[in-house]
Amino acid sequence: MDQAANDPHVPGTGGPAAALESTVDALMDGVCADLKRLAAIPSIAFPGFSPEPVLQARDLLVALLRDAGVASIGELNLPATAPVITGSIPPPTPDAPTVLLYGHYDVQPPGDERLWTSEPFEPTDFREPAGGPAIRARGIADDKANLMAHIGALRAYGGRPPVGIKIVFEGQEEYGSAFEAYPPSEPDLFACDAMIIADTGNIRPGTPTLTTALRGSAVVLVEVRTLNSAVHSGEYGGAAPDALLTLLKALGTLHDVHGDVAVEGLRREPWHGTALSEEEFRDLAGVIPGTPLPGTGGLGERLWNGPALTVVGLDAPSVDRGASAVVPYARAKLNLRVHPRQDPQEAQAALVRHLQRLRPFGIPLTVTPGEAGPGYEAATDGPAYRAARTALRRAWGTDPVHCASGGSIPLVNGLAEAAPNAEILLFGAEDNLCNLHGPDERVLLSELRGHLLAEAAFLAEYAAGHRTGPTP
Ligand SMILES: [Zn+2]
Repeated sequence: MDQAANDPHVPGTGGPAAALESTVDALMDGVCADLKRLAAIPSIAFPGFSPEPVLQARDLLVALLRDAGVASIGELNLPATAPVITGSIPPPTPDAPTVLLYGHYDVQPPGDERLWTSEPFEPTDFREPAGGPAIRARGIADDKANLMAHIGALRAYGGRPPVGIKIVFEGQEEYGSAFEAYPPSEPDLFACDAMIIADTGNIRPGTPTLTTALRGSAVVLVEVRTLNSAVHSGEYGGAAPDALLTLLKALGTLHDVHGDVAVEGLRREPWHGTALSEEEFRDLAGVIPGTPLPGTGGLGERLWNGPALTVVGLDAPSVDRGASAVVPYARAKLNLRVHPRQDPQEAQAALVRHLQRLRPFGIPLTVTPGEAGPGYEAATDGPAYRAARTALRRAWGTDPVHCASGGSIPLVNGLAEAAPNAEILLFGAEDNLCNLHGPDERVLLSELRGHLLAEAAFLAEYAAGHRTGPTP
Protein backbone atom coordinates (compact mmCIF):
# COMPACT_ATOMS: atom_id res chain seq x y z
CA MET A 1 0.00 0.00 0.00
CA ASP A 2 1.78 3.09 -1.18
CA GLN A 3 -0.09 6.02 -2.59
CA ALA A 4 2.87 8.39 -2.46
CA ALA A 5 2.82 9.01 -6.21
CA ASN A 6 -0.26 11.24 -6.32
CA ASP A 7 -0.71 11.99 -2.68
CA PRO A 8 -1.22 15.58 -1.57
CA HIS A 9 0.33 14.69 1.84
CA VAL A 10 3.78 14.08 0.41
CA PRO A 11 6.28 16.64 1.74
CA GLY A 12 7.39 19.10 -0.86
CA THR A 13 4.16 19.03 -2.83
CA GLY A 14 2.60 21.82 -0.83
CA GLY A 15 -0.06 19.61 0.80
CA PRO A 16 -0.89 19.29 4.50
CA ALA A 17 2.36 17.41 5.15
CA ALA A 18 4.40 20.36 3.92
CA ALA A 19 2.30 22.56 6.18
CA LEU A 20 2.95 20.21 9.10
CA GLU A 21 6.64 20.34 8.33
CA SER A 22 6.79 24.12 8.52
CA THR A 23 4.63 24.04 11.67
CA VAL A 24 7.14 21.70 13.30
CA ASP A 25 10.08 23.82 12.15
CA ALA A 26 8.45 26.85 13.71
CA LEU A 27 7.98 24.92 16.97
CA MET A 28 11.55 23.66 17.27
CA ASP A 29 13.05 26.67 19.09
CA GLY A 30 10.38 26.52 21.78
CA VAL A 31 10.63 22.75 22.08
CA CYS A 32 14.42 22.97 22.50
CA ALA A 33 14.14 25.75 25.08
CA ASP A 34 11.67 23.72 27.15
CA LEU A 35 13.80 20.60 26.69
CA LYS A 36 16.75 22.47 28.19
CA ARG A 37 14.65 23.65 31.15
CA LEU A 38 13.57 20.06 31.73
CA ALA A 39 17.08 18.61 31.30
CA ALA A 40 18.51 21.14 33.77
CA ILE A 41 16.52 19.39 36.52
CA PRO A 42 18.45 16.43 38.00
CA SER A 43 15.37 14.21 38.28
CA ILE A 44 17.14 11.07 39.48
CA ALA A 45 14.67 8.68 41.14
CA PHE A 46 17.31 6.48 42.77
CA PRO A 47 17.70 5.89 46.52
CA GLY A 48 20.17 8.35 48.00
CA PHE A 49 19.17 11.21 45.67
CA SER A 50 16.85 14.02 46.70
CA PRO A 51 13.26 13.42 45.56
CA GLU A 52 12.76 17.19 45.18
CA PRO A 53 14.04 17.52 41.56
CA VAL A 54 11.83 14.61 40.48
CA LEU A 55 8.79 16.57 41.71
CA GLN A 56 10.13 19.72 40.07
CA ALA A 57 10.32 17.92 36.71
CA ARG A 58 6.80 16.67 37.27
CA ASP A 59 5.56 20.22 37.95
CA LEU A 60 7.22 21.56 34.80
CA LEU A 61 5.72 18.77 32.67
CA VAL A 62 2.25 19.27 34.12
CA ALA A 63 2.49 22.98 33.19
CA LEU A 64 3.76 22.16 29.67
CA LEU A 65 1.02 19.57 29.15
CA ARG A 66 -1.66 21.98 30.31
CA ASP A 67 -0.34 24.64 27.90
CA ALA A 68 -0.36 22.03 25.12
CA GLY A 69 -4.08 21.40 25.55
CA VAL A 70 -4.24 18.53 28.03
CA ALA A 71 -7.07 19.61 30.28
CA SER A 72 -7.62 16.72 32.63
CA ILE A 73 -4.29 15.98 34.27
CA GLY A 74 -4.05 13.48 37.07
CA GLU A 75 -1.42 11.63 38.99
CA LEU A 76 -0.91 8.06 40.07
CA ASN A 77 0.79 7.63 43.41
CA LEU A 78 1.90 4.06 44.05
CA PRO A 79 3.99 2.80 46.97
CA ALA A 80 7.73 3.59 46.69
CA THR A 81 7.14 5.05 43.23
CA ALA A 82 7.60 8.59 41.92
CA PRO A 83 4.35 10.14 40.62
CA VAL A 84 3.06 8.94 37.27
CA ILE A 85 1.54 11.86 35.35
CA THR A 86 -1.68 10.94 33.56
CA GLY A 87 -3.85 13.08 31.34
CA SER A 88 -6.17 12.99 28.39
CA ILE A 89 -7.63 14.89 25.48
CA PRO A 90 -10.99 13.42 24.39
CA PRO A 91 -11.28 12.21 20.80
CA PRO A 92 -12.51 15.04 18.50
CA THR A 93 -15.24 12.77 17.09
CA PRO A 94 -16.78 9.60 18.56
CA ASP A 95 -15.14 7.43 15.88
CA ALA A 96 -11.63 8.88 16.23
CA PRO A 97 -9.06 6.53 17.77
CA THR A 98 -7.20 7.18 21.02
CA VAL A 99 -3.41 7.17 21.20
CA LEU A 100 -1.50 6.78 24.46
CA LEU A 101 1.79 8.69 24.66
CA TYR A 102 4.36 7.25 27.06
CA GLY A 103 7.70 8.51 28.28
CA HIS A 104 9.60 8.87 31.56
CA TYR A 105 10.89 12.02 33.22
CA ASP A 106 13.43 10.47 35.58
CA VAL A 107 17.01 10.00 34.46
CA GLN A 108 20.03 7.86 35.22
CA PRO A 109 22.57 9.27 37.70
CA PRO A 110 25.34 11.09 35.79
CA GLY A 111 28.07 8.62 36.84
CA ASP A 112 31.65 9.92 37.03
CA GLU A 113 31.23 13.62 36.27
CA ARG A 114 34.89 13.97 35.31
CA LEU A 115 34.12 12.00 32.17
CA TRP A 116 31.66 14.65 30.99
CA THR A 117 32.70 17.44 28.62
CA SER A 118 30.19 19.80 30.26
CA GLU A 119 28.17 19.66 33.49
CA PRO A 120 25.57 16.85 33.21
CA PHE A 121 22.73 19.11 34.33
CA GLU A 122 23.77 22.21 32.39
CA PRO A 123 22.29 21.45 28.96
CA THR A 124 24.92 22.55 26.44
CA ASP A 125 24.59 23.20 22.72
CA PHE A 126 27.33 21.84 20.52
CA ARG A 127 27.87 20.59 17.02
CA GLU A 128 28.65 16.98 16.31
CA PRO A 129 30.91 16.56 13.25
CA ALA A 130 28.71 13.89 11.67
CA GLY A 131 25.35 14.59 13.27
CA GLY A 132 25.13 18.40 13.31
CA PRO A 133 23.56 20.53 16.08
CA ALA A 134 23.05 18.68 19.35
CA ILE A 135 22.39 19.26 23.05
CA ARG A 136 24.35 17.46 25.72
CA ALA A 137 22.94 16.67 29.20
CA ARG A 138 22.05 13.67 31.35
CA GLY A 139 18.62 12.37 30.37
CA ILE A 140 18.30 14.63 27.36
CA ALA A 141 17.84 11.68 24.99
CA ASP A 142 16.63 9.14 27.55
CA ASP A 143 13.94 10.22 27.85
CA LYS A 144 13.31 13.97 28.00
CA ALA A 145 13.59 14.67 24.25
CA ASN A 146 10.90 12.06 23.74
CA LEU A 147 8.62 13.75 26.28
CA MET A 148 9.13 17.06 24.48
CA ALA A 149 8.34 15.37 21.16
CA HIS A 150 5.00 14.21 22.62
CA ILE A 151 4.29 17.74 23.82
CA GLY A 152 5.52 19.18 20.50
CA ALA A 153 3.15 16.92 18.56
CA LEU A 154 0.24 18.31 20.62
CA ARG A 155 1.49 21.86 20.02
CA ALA A 156 1.56 21.16 16.29
CA TYR A 157 -2.22 20.78 16.47
CA GLY A 158 -2.76 23.72 18.78
CA GLY A 159 -3.80 21.29 21.51
CA ARG A 160 -6.58 19.84 19.34
CA PRO A 161 -5.05 16.71 17.78
CA PRO A 162 -7.07 14.62 15.30
CA VAL A 163 -7.15 11.68 17.74
CA GLY A 164 -7.96 11.23 21.41
CA ILE A 165 -4.84 11.38 23.57
CA LYS A 166 -3.84 9.70 26.81
CA ILE A 167 -0.71 10.75 28.60
CA VAL A 168 1.40 8.45 30.76
CA PHE A 169 4.64 10.10 31.90
CA GLU A 170 6.43 7.92 34.42
CA GLY A 171 8.81 9.25 37.09
CA GLN A 172 10.82 6.21 38.11
CA GLU A 173 11.58 4.12 35.08
CA GLU A 174 15.34 3.90 35.39
CA TYR A 175 15.36 2.50 38.94
CA GLY A 176 12.20 0.43 38.52
CA SER A 177 9.02 0.79 40.54
CA ALA A 178 5.61 -0.60 41.40
CA PHE A 179 4.26 0.98 38.20
CA GLU A 180 5.71 -1.71 35.89
CA ALA A 181 3.10 -4.25 36.95
CA TYR A 182 0.30 -1.78 37.64
CA PRO A 183 -1.51 -1.16 34.31
CA PRO A 184 -3.52 -4.44 34.24
CA SER A 185 -5.07 -3.55 37.61
CA GLU A 186 -6.69 -0.42 36.14
CA PRO A 187 -7.21 -1.18 32.44
CA ASP A 188 -9.65 1.73 31.88
CA LEU A 189 -6.92 4.24 32.55
CA PHE A 190 -4.78 2.71 29.79
CA ALA A 191 -7.49 1.76 27.29
CA CYS A 192 -6.51 3.02 23.82
CA ASP A 193 -6.17 1.97 20.19
CA ALA A 194 -2.45 2.57 19.85
CA MET A 195 0.46 3.58 22.08
CA ILE A 196 3.65 5.39 21.26
CA ILE A 197 6.25 4.16 23.72
CA ALA A 198 8.90 6.79 23.08
CA ASP A 199 11.91 5.38 24.88
CA THR A 200 13.94 4.14 21.92
CA GLY A 201 15.22 5.65 18.72
CA ASN A 202 16.77 5.16 15.34
CA ILE A 203 19.25 2.37 14.71
CA ARG A 204 21.52 5.07 13.31
CA PRO A 205 20.90 8.81 12.88
CA GLY A 206 18.67 9.44 9.88
CA THR A 207 17.36 5.88 9.55
CA PRO A 208 13.73 5.87 10.73
CA THR A 209 13.30 2.85 12.95
CA LEU A 210 10.41 0.98 14.51
CA THR A 211 11.54 -1.26 17.35
CA THR A 212 9.31 -4.30 17.04
CA ALA A 213 10.76 -6.77 19.52
CA LEU A 214 12.46 -6.86 22.89
CA ARG A 215 14.25 -9.82 24.41
CA GLY A 216 13.17 -11.25 27.74
CA SER A 217 15.59 -11.86 30.58
CA ALA A 218 16.25 -14.18 33.48
CA VAL A 219 18.82 -14.38 36.26
CA VAL A 220 20.34 -17.60 37.61
CA LEU A 221 22.76 -17.90 40.52
CA VAL A 222 25.13 -20.84 40.72
CA GLU A 223 27.35 -21.66 43.67
CA VAL A 224 29.78 -24.30 44.86
CA ARG A 225 31.06 -25.09 48.34
CA THR A 226 33.79 -27.70 48.60
CA LEU A 227 35.67 -27.04 51.87
CA ASN A 228 34.88 -25.65 55.32
CA SER A 229 37.48 -22.96 54.69
CA ALA A 230 40.49 -22.14 52.52
CA VAL A 231 43.44 -24.51 52.91
CA HIS A 232 47.13 -24.21 51.93
CA SER A 233 47.48 -24.84 48.20
CA GLY A 234 50.91 -26.45 48.69
CA GLU A 235 49.85 -28.87 51.38
CA TYR A 236 46.36 -29.66 50.14
CA GLY A 237 46.29 -28.56 46.48
CA GLY A 238 46.09 -31.55 44.14
CA ALA A 239 43.56 -33.42 46.26
CA ALA A 240 41.50 -30.70 47.98
CA PRO A 241 38.41 -29.89 45.83
CA ASP A 242 38.71 -26.36 44.42
CA ALA A 243 35.36 -24.53 44.38
CA LEU A 244 36.47 -21.84 41.94
CA LEU A 245 37.83 -24.33 39.40
CA THR A 246 34.66 -26.37 39.73
CA LEU A 247 32.55 -23.32 39.03
CA LEU A 248 34.72 -22.22 36.09
CA LYS A 249 34.47 -25.69 34.57
CA ALA A 250 30.69 -25.43 34.79
CA LEU A 251 30.64 -21.95 33.26
CA GLY A 252 32.85 -23.24 30.46
CA THR A 253 30.03 -25.55 29.31
CA LEU A 254 27.57 -22.71 28.66
CA HIS A 255 28.97 -21.92 25.19
CA ASP A 256 30.31 -24.10 22.41
CA VAL A 257 33.71 -23.64 20.78
CA HIS A 258 32.27 -20.97 18.44
CA GLY A 259 30.82 -18.93 21.29
CA ASP A 260 27.18 -19.85 20.66
CA VAL A 261 25.06 -20.60 23.74
CA ALA A 262 25.15 -24.36 24.27
CA VAL A 263 22.21 -24.73 26.65
CA GLU A 264 19.46 -26.97 25.28
CA GLY A 265 15.93 -25.58 25.07
CA LEU A 266 16.69 -21.93 24.28
CA ARG A 267 14.89 -20.55 21.28
CA ARG A 268 16.82 -18.97 18.42
CA GLU A 269 15.58 -17.93 14.97
CA PRO A 270 16.87 -16.00 11.96
CA TRP A 271 16.23 -12.24 12.12
CA HIS A 272 14.60 -10.78 9.00
CA GLY A 273 14.56 -7.08 9.91
CA THR A 274 17.44 -4.62 9.73
CA ALA A 275 20.54 -5.23 11.80
CA LEU A 276 23.73 -3.39 12.60
CA SER A 277 26.74 -4.09 10.42
CA GLU A 278 29.65 -5.79 12.17
CA GLU A 279 31.66 -2.60 11.85
CA GLU A 280 28.91 -0.49 13.47
CA PHE A 281 28.52 -3.03 16.26
CA ARG A 282 32.27 -3.15 16.97
CA ASP A 283 32.34 0.60 17.09
CA LEU A 284 29.30 0.92 19.37
CA ALA A 285 30.46 -1.81 21.75
CA GLY A 286 34.07 -0.56 21.73
CA VAL A 287 35.46 -3.98 20.86
CA ILE A 288 39.27 -4.02 21.09
CA PRO A 289 40.56 -4.24 17.48
CA GLY A 290 41.56 -7.75 16.49
CA THR A 291 39.21 -9.39 19.03
CA PRO A 292 36.81 -11.77 17.24
CA LEU A 293 33.09 -11.58 18.08
CA PRO A 294 31.69 -14.74 19.67
CA GLY A 295 28.91 -16.75 18.06
CA THR A 296 27.82 -17.61 14.56
CA GLY A 297 24.98 -16.31 12.38
CA GLY A 298 23.80 -12.76 11.73
CA LEU A 299 24.05 -10.05 14.36
CA GLY A 300 20.26 -9.56 14.37
CA GLU A 301 19.86 -13.21 15.30
CA ARG A 302 22.56 -13.15 17.95
CA LEU A 303 21.54 -9.86 19.55
CA TRP A 304 17.74 -9.91 19.24
CA ASN A 305 16.30 -13.24 18.16
CA GLY A 306 18.33 -15.70 20.14
CA PRO A 307 19.72 -16.27 23.61
CA ALA A 308 22.70 -14.54 25.17
CA LEU A 309 24.28 -15.78 28.36
CA THR A 310 26.57 -13.47 30.30
CA VAL A 311 28.44 -14.00 33.57
CA VAL A 312 27.68 -10.66 35.19
CA GLY A 313 29.20 -11.32 38.60
CA LEU A 314 31.66 -13.68 40.26
CA ASP A 315 32.39 -14.09 43.96
CA ALA A 316 35.95 -15.30 44.26
CA PRO A 317 39.14 -13.89 45.82
CA SER A 318 40.52 -10.99 43.78
CA VAL A 319 43.97 -11.36 42.27
CA ASP A 320 45.49 -8.86 44.71
CA ARG A 321 44.01 -10.68 47.69
CA GLY A 322 44.50 -14.18 46.37
CA ALA A 323 46.43 -16.14 49.00
CA SER A 324 48.19 -19.42 48.18
CA ALA A 325 45.11 -21.35 49.14
CA VAL A 326 42.50 -23.65 47.62
CA VAL A 327 39.26 -21.64 47.31
CA PRO A 328 36.44 -23.20 49.38
CA TYR A 329 33.46 -21.32 47.94
CA ALA A 330 32.60 -19.53 44.70
CA ARG A 331 29.44 -18.10 43.19
CA ALA A 332 28.43 -16.64 39.84
CA LYS A 333 25.47 -14.57 38.67
CA LEU A 334 24.30 -15.39 35.16
CA ASN A 335 22.17 -13.07 33.07
CA LEU A 336 20.22 -14.83 30.36
CA ARG A 337 18.57 -12.89 27.51
CA VAL A 338 15.92 -14.82 25.65
CA HIS A 339 14.09 -14.82 22.33
CA PRO A 340 11.22 -12.25 22.42
CA ARG A 341 8.59 -15.00 22.23
CA GLN A 342 10.16 -17.52 24.60
CA ASP A 343 8.71 -17.67 28.11
CA PRO A 344 11.59 -16.43 30.28
CA GLN A 345 10.68 -18.89 33.03
CA GLU A 346 10.91 -21.76 30.55
CA ALA A 347 14.31 -20.50 29.39
CA GLN A 348 15.44 -20.04 32.97
CA ALA A 349 14.36 -23.60 33.78
CA ALA A 350 16.39 -24.85 30.80
CA LEU A 351 19.50 -23.13 32.17
CA VAL A 352 18.86 -24.43 35.69
CA ARG A 353 18.49 -27.98 34.29
CA HIS A 354 21.72 -27.64 32.32
CA LEU A 355 23.66 -26.58 35.42
CA GLN A 356 22.05 -29.13 37.74
CA ARG A 357 22.96 -31.95 35.39
CA LEU A 358 26.64 -31.00 35.50
CA ARG A 359 28.94 -32.62 38.01
CA PRO A 360 32.32 -30.93 37.38
CA PHE A 361 34.91 -33.25 39.00
CA GLY A 362 31.88 -35.11 40.37
CA ILE A 363 30.81 -32.10 42.44
CA PRO A 364 27.15 -30.94 42.40
CA LEU A 365 26.31 -27.26 42.02
CA THR A 366 23.69 -25.27 43.91
CA VAL A 367 21.54 -23.49 41.34
CA THR A 368 19.00 -20.79 42.26
CA PRO A 369 16.70 -19.03 39.79
CA GLY A 370 16.46 -15.24 40.22
CA GLU A 371 14.01 -12.77 38.68
CA ALA A 372 12.71 -13.22 35.15
CA GLY A 373 11.01 -10.72 32.83
CA PRO A 374 9.18 -11.45 29.58
CA GLY A 375 10.21 -10.13 26.18
CA TYR A 376 7.88 -8.55 23.69
CA GLU A 377 7.08 -8.87 20.04
CA ALA A 378 4.72 -6.47 18.28
CA ALA A 379 2.08 -7.46 15.74
CA THR A 380 3.06 -5.13 12.90
CA ASP A 381 0.21 -5.62 10.44
CA GLY A 382 -2.47 -3.37 11.98
CA PRO A 383 -3.65 0.13 11.01
CA ALA A 384 -1.40 1.93 13.51
CA TYR A 385 1.69 0.25 12.08
CA ARG A 386 0.56 1.10 8.57
CA ALA A 387 0.06 4.72 9.58
CA ALA A 388 3.39 4.80 11.42
CA ARG A 389 5.30 3.44 8.44
CA THR A 390 3.74 6.11 6.21
CA ALA A 391 4.40 8.87 8.78
CA LEU A 392 8.02 7.86 9.32
CA ARG A 393 8.64 7.66 5.59
CA ARG A 394 7.20 11.14 5.14
CA ALA A 395 9.14 12.63 8.05
CA TRP A 396 12.48 11.12 7.07
CA GLY A 397 12.14 10.80 3.31
CA THR A 398 13.09 7.13 3.45
CA ASP A 399 11.42 3.84 4.33
CA PRO A 400 11.49 2.92 8.02
CA VAL A 401 13.26 -0.25 9.11
CA HIS A 402 12.25 -2.74 11.77
CA CYS A 403 14.76 -3.55 14.42
CA ALA A 404 14.69 -5.07 17.88
CA SER A 405 16.33 -4.27 21.15
CA GLY A 406 18.32 -6.68 23.25
CA GLY A 407 17.12 -4.97 26.41
CA SER A 408 13.68 -5.31 27.94
CA ILE A 409 11.14 -2.60 28.87
CA PRO A 410 9.04 -4.38 31.53
CA LEU A 411 6.26 -1.79 31.42
CA VAL A 412 5.51 -2.67 27.78
CA ASN A 413 4.17 -6.03 28.92
CA GLY A 414 2.06 -4.41 31.63
CA LEU A 415 0.58 -2.01 29.08
CA ALA A 416 0.03 -4.80 26.56
CA GLU A 417 -1.86 -6.77 29.19
CA ALA A 418 -3.96 -3.74 30.18
CA ALA A 419 -4.88 -2.90 26.57
CA PRO A 420 -4.57 -6.21 24.72
CA ASN A 421 -6.02 -4.88 21.46
CA ALA A 422 -3.88 -1.75 21.29
CA GLU A 423 -1.03 -1.63 18.81
CA ILE A 424 2.24 -0.71 20.49
CA LEU A 425 4.69 1.45 18.58
CA LEU A 426 8.24 1.97 19.79
CA PHE A 427 10.06 4.84 18.16
CA GLY A 428 11.73 7.98 19.45
CA ALA A 429 14.46 10.59 19.34
CA GLU A 430 17.26 8.51 20.81
CA ASP A 431 19.73 6.96 18.41
CA ASN A 432 22.35 4.31 18.83
CA LEU A 433 25.12 6.88 19.30
CA CYS A 434 23.38 9.05 21.94
CA ASN A 435 25.41 7.70 24.91
CA LEU A 436 22.33 6.96 26.98
CA HIS A 437 23.29 5.95 30.55
CA GLY A 438 26.92 6.95 29.75
CA PRO A 439 28.90 10.19 29.99
CA ASP A 440 28.19 12.94 27.43
CA GLU A 441 24.63 11.82 26.68
CA ARG A 442 23.28 13.90 23.82
CA VAL A 443 20.37 14.32 21.45
CA LEU A 444 20.73 15.42 17.84
CA LEU A 445 18.32 18.19 16.88
CA SER A 446 17.81 16.46 13.52
CA GLU A 447 16.64 13.32 15.36
CA LEU A 448 14.36 15.32 17.66
CA ARG A 449 12.84 17.19 14.73
CA GLY A 450 12.42 14.01 12.68
CA HIS A 451 10.76 12.17 15.55
CA LEU A 452 8.47 15.08 16.39
CA LEU A 453 7.43 15.42 12.75
CA ALA A 454 6.89 11.67 12.45
CA GLU A 455 4.76 11.60 15.59
CA ALA A 456 2.65 14.58 14.49
CA ALA A 457 2.24 13.05 11.02
CA PHE A 458 1.31 9.73 12.59
CA LEU A 459 -1.58 11.26 14.53
CA ALA A 460 -3.09 12.65 11.30
CA GLU A 461 -2.36 9.53 9.27
CA TYR A 462 -3.82 7.21 11.91
CA ALA A 463 -6.95 9.35 12.31
CA ALA A 464 -7.46 9.41 8.53
CA GLY A 465 -6.95 5.64 8.25
CA HIS A 466 -9.49 5.11 11.01
CA ARG A 467 -12.11 7.14 9.15
CA THR A 468 -11.68 5.37 5.84
CA GLY A 469 -11.02 1.91 7.23
CA PRO A 470 -8.12 -0.29 6.22
CA THR A 471 -6.60 0.32 2.79
CA PRO A 472 -6.53 -2.78 0.59
ZN1 LIG B 1 14.61 5.39 29.02
